[in-house]
Amino acid sequence: MYHSVGSDVKPAVVGSNPIHLDRFKRQMLLFDAAGYRFASIRELDARIDNSDRVFITSDDGTSDWATNVLPWCEVNSIPTHTGIISGPLRDKPTYPLAHLVQLLLASKTNEELTRLCESLQAKLTSTELDFVNQTYNYETDQNRRIIKGALNLIFPQNVAMEQLSPFMSDADFTNMTIRFQNLEFYRNFSYATLGNHTENHTALGQDFSMYFQHEVEPCKEFLKDHPNNIGDIFTLPLKPRATAEKSAFYELLQKNGFKHCLTSFAGIWDGQSFEIPRIDAQDVEGILEASGLA
Ligand SMILES: [Zn+2]
Repeated sequence: MYHSVGSDVKPAVVGSNPIHLDRFKRQMLLFDAAGYRFASIRELDARIDNSDRVFITSDDGTSDWATNVLPWCEVNSIPTHTGIISGPLRDKPTYPLAHLVQLLLASKTNEELTRLCESLQAKLTSTELDFVNQTYNYETDQNRRIIKGALNLIFPQNVAMEQLSPFMSDADFTNMTIRFQNLEFYRNFSYATLGNHTENHTALGQDFSMYFQHEVEPCKEFLKDHPNNIGDIFTLPLKPRATAEKSAFYELLQKNGFKHCLTSFAGIWDGQSFEIPRIDAQDVEGILEASGLA
């Protein structure tokens, strides 16, 4: 699972947790050397041979991922699947909170972040604080953990935006306008598929049918005529909120024709389940080494 991939020609988008294009290429060589075949997401359920398969997927469709990785993968015949967020690509764009939070964390001073962190933390119950600490345990910095957790997974979207707005400048919003790759670009690549990764990239909450209506359907409609679109794969953003009824949401996805849901839960897919866990870009070498394959 990839997000942002930077290079010297096209640096990573601000505030992301990128890997360098050189490392991405080395990882592809590692998979190849370990005997994996690069498979298209189109053949998730229709295996064409008995080889070990690897699926290269990326979430959010940032401009660095698209311009750095897709041309190289095209030349090397490596299929990729990109989860698209439709909100930022509309004529009147809306920007995902999670990306505004990334930008905020990268561009504000420590004093500003501490002030925001303290004000957010004061609004959390101890159960909510536990959930935040557990979900974002990979963030060792307290400010980062609380700000991401409270804004992405606890407060309703509108409340989170209110908390965030005083800290965002016009330059921050300008930065958002160049952060996501337009859909036309993907037409140049026959090895690149696209899929539904929501309208606004909010975390799944308690009301799964409202979530389907506001996050899944608009993105589905937005992508439906694109030649690279895979209509039946959904990519779940973030981790679900504590109140989320994930299995009921999966049932609703299936009722509406979705064949699989890609997630950010860590793991290796069993080749059958509706829910597909993935390996984070930062963990690829470690996983291959642990399996004795690299
Ligand atoms: Zn995402």
